[in-house]
Amino acid sequence: MNIRGLYKSSLLDFPGKISAVVFTGGCNLRCGYCHNPHLAVNPESLEKIDEEEIIKYLVKRKNLLDSVTISGGEPLLQKRLLSFINRVKEAAGLLVKIDTNGCFPDVLGDIICSGYVDYVAMDMKTSPQKYSKLTGTDFDFQKLMDSLNVLKDSGVEYELRTTCVPDFVTLEDIQSIAERTGRVKNYYLQQYVSSNELISEGFRNIIPYGTKDLEVLKLEVLKFADNCKIRGI
Ligand code: SF4
Repeated sequence: MNIRGLYKSSLLDFPGKISAVVFTGGCNLRCGYCHNPHLAVNPESLEKIDEEEIIKYLVKRKNLLDSVTISGGEPLLQKRLLSFINRVKEAAGLLVKIDTNGCFPDVLGDIICSGYVDYVAMDMKTSPQKYSKLTGTDFDFQKLMDSLNVLKDSGVEYELRTTCVPDFVTLEDIQSIAERTGRVKNYYLQQYVSSNELISEGFRNIIPYGTKDLEVLKLEVLKFADNCKIRGI
């Protein structure tokens, strides 16, 4: 595993659980607002953390943690992901959450089939027509839909999450997402936060939505999601 970061403990990543967060290096997308540009684009610039070291930490702290979140970058790019998840389960017995951008439905299906994944958070970044622009790639929206169907069919707990970047996440975009996803379970709308370290300078001056705007988007999401919460306000 190409591990380039570790948060020893977080209350924000796995709903209702205390989670260690492991960050894998490398991503196939180039989202303009990515807050981890080094991790996504140039992971070699960050110190590599040995897998053994992570397992040792998890075993030592297993009584203080509920779970491990494997984030990125894009974790599903990691060839040894399944074996790492197996090790986490066998050595520390913790719940496992995967964060993914949804581009790899086959890999997602394989790791869920292992029975060792307890929760998946998948990005739903914008409407199909804006996806390529936002992600800086020629985005295949069908792959994202295939990943969603894997989640729906598997019975695993999951959430979809949308970072609400004005211009990319409007009421019309939410309606367009709903047309493609159909009914879904848990949906999180995340407040957009700017930073000086984004992939694209063009995103630095974007003014985030106010709380009322986010509440309007939430009402729209609740038309097709069982639950919707706003994060980051
Ligand atoms: S999917 Fe986008 S936001 Fe997430 S790590 Fe990759 S480039 Fe960054």
